[in-house]
Amino acid sequence: TTTLFWFRQDLRFADNAALAAEITSGASIVPVFIWAPQEEGDWGPAAASRWWLHHALASFAEQWAAKGARLVLRQGNSLEELRTLIASTGATRVVWNRRYESPQREFDIEIKRELRSEGIEVDSYNSRLLIEPHAVATGTGKPYQVYTPYWKKVKDWPLDAVAEPDLEALRFPEEFPDSLALEQFNLLPQHAWDRGFYEQWSVSEADAIQCLEGFLAGGIQDYASARDRPDVCGTSQLSPYLYWGQIGPRQIVSRLKATCDLSQPGPATFLKEIYWREFAYHVLYHFPHTASHPLRAEYEDFPWVRNSTVLRAWQTGHTGYPIVDAGMRQLWQVGWMHNRVRMIVSSFLVKHLLHDWRDGARWFWETLVDADLASNTLGWQWSGGCGADAAPYFRIFNPILQGQKFDPEGEYVKRYLPELRRLPAKYIHKPWDAPESVLTSADVLLGRDYPRPIVEHRIGRERALAALKRFKS
Ligand code: FAD
Repeated sequence: TTTLFWFRQDLRFADNAALAAEITSGASIVPVFIWAPQEEGDWGPAAASRWWLHHALASFAEQWAAKGARLVLRQGNSLEELRTLIASTGATRVVWNRRYESPQREFDIEIKRELRSEGIEVDSYNSRLLIEPHAVATGTGKPYQVYTPYWKKVKDWPLDAVAEPDLEALRFPEEFPDSLALEQFNLLPQHAWDRGFYEQWSVSEADAIQCLEGFLAGGIQDYASARDRPDVCGTSQLSPYLYWGQIGPRQIVSRLKATCDLSQPGPATFLKEIYWREFAYHVLYHFPHTASHPLRAEYEDFPWVRNSTVLRAWQTGHTGYPIVDAGMRQLWQVGWMHNRVRMIVSSFLVKHLLHDWRDGARWFWETLVDADLASNTLGWQWSGGCGADAAPYFRIFNPILQGQKFDPEGEYVKRYLPELRRLPAKYIHKPWDAPESVLTSADVLLGRDYPRPIVEHRIGRERALAALKRFKS
């Protein structure tokens, strides 16, 4: 018998539950990837994600080729493509690992129903999450909306074992169906905006494992404190690999438990962060409308501002606040931003500039290689104060103090804002305070080489507090 294996966001061999099960069944496998962004509603993979996907597919296709198989690439309507492939291969089964976003989830249910009604066996598995969102509920049977009780509920939850496909036992048909060339998906950008991506990332399953192992052998021990320091970059940078499923969370947790002492702060904190991702999926699954609407419905009427000049200044890293601008330029250059800085720049946009969080979320969606609807929505609504477990409205990050605390020498700022590289650490997070002589010897003319603040911190803060207070009352 022949089985079509429909790959989506699970571009790996290791810990692939559907693959492990199918190999055991002895069926011949035809691996398929269908490019169908139109089926993902408003949130199909955007520019930076597409870049990652291109390279992930290229390396995954090589992995299959090394096994003597072809990763079949198709484009169009998923159901129609699967039907065509069933007809040309004589497949009697279709399998996949589940998705949790909407409308993908509804699509999968529909496709399952259709194919089954046509006499095809269809099975789906979980390889994306530690705990599927529908498996957990509060005492009253509701979804969780706050992390801490969620964490208490799930932290000792028994996890499925890591699925280890027996790759030696893989079987393939004599012939493979035709495949499009990867280039026909047109995933790479038209202009060379992605140069920095190539310097930062290596995109394969083997790189994902190396990234995890490198982190577990080093950074994990200091993670509890270093994770907040963009200058030392004390985090794993596993997020884009996780998004495209080049590594799975079960692999991460299992290696974490095997190699680290979970009573230590570094490993313990890292484990909790992995469960933040789970929480994000839990929330998005149960409240799919939150991708574009606040979870707290009353915020639907909040008078957010939408000013394209202000938005552009933020997007391009020209707000005049070095930590904000460095973050936005890191995002543009390498498609990723440190978590602490994501919190600072998002807070700045929605609080200091009172700009609609949705525009920020959309920009992140376009520019992050780890753009993930669940985590991005949760993060943005946290900053906007309008989501699950959100920051209270009076919590407004001070971008100067945040910079001084988490990038004390200004190393991070200087990396992404070379125009400020000669400024002494004392002024790096508030260049407007530097005496004229210091600015001159650092070769910085404010307003020419680097902008003055788009809004004075005190004014931005008071304006936000007043607007939010007015809205609350
Ligand atoms: P590490 O600190 O090494 O953590 C390991 C893993 O835990 C991460 O890869 C991620 O899967 C998970 N994780 C850590 N922190 C969070 C968190 N706060 N929420 C959910 N999962 C978390 N993360 C994305 O993956 N995609 C997004 O689109 C995204 N958008 C965000 C937007 C905003 C405004 C904010 C504040 C956060 C966002 N995050 C997003 C969460 C977090 O910033 C990233 O997961 C993290 O920076 C990825 O880097 P890392 O892999 O080195 O993380």
